[in-house]
Amino acid sequence: MLMMDDIIRDGHPTLRKVAAEVSMPPSEEDREILKSLLEYVQNSQDPELSSKYKLRPGIGLAAPQINVSKRMIAVHLLDDKGNLISYALYNPKIVSHSVEKAYLVSGEGCLSVDENFPGFVERFARITVKGISLEGEEVKLRLKGLPAICFQHEIDHLNGIMFYDHINKQDPFKPIEGAIAIER
Ligand code: ZN
Repeated sequence: MLMMDDIIRDGHPTLRKVAAEVSMPPSEEDREILKSLLEYVQNSQDPELSSKYKLRPGIGLAAPQINVSKRMIAVHLLDDKGNLISYALYNPKIVSHSVEKAYLVSGEGCLSVDENFPGFVERFARITVKGISLEGEEVKLRLKGLPAICFQHEIDHLNGIMFYDHINKQDPFKPIEGAIAIER
């Protein structure tokens, strides 16, 4: 079971690396790692477990954040209609995206970043993601709203990109023209 101590923090070089593709079929080791990522986000949202083990709640986690530079992510959250969006994917890839942009009004946070980086993080409003599930099946997801933002945040981790890289440094709350403001 992953704990906060297993999560590396901002400044660690692994967070800035481009992670390697996972070879298919996955090894038992890679499967265990991917399962543990999903388990962390699930446990972190359980009030009892998060308080018992001092887990900071998160909706997504990428393998580089536990110092494994391989293309694996887990996402676990409710969309705006209350549907559970819960996936653990090998080699996730954004295969298409909208021209339209979106951002979270409250900004973004990250389990690997202890300090606050206020500001708007520009994202695509809608994306299509392909990847391989824990069960070894190809998955194709069409996402918008918070789930789309979350997947873009996690896939960025596979490319060595942190959310605050997208914040306008001169004017962090500068309105993003034509973008959808997502309240959470
Ligand atoms: Zn993050």
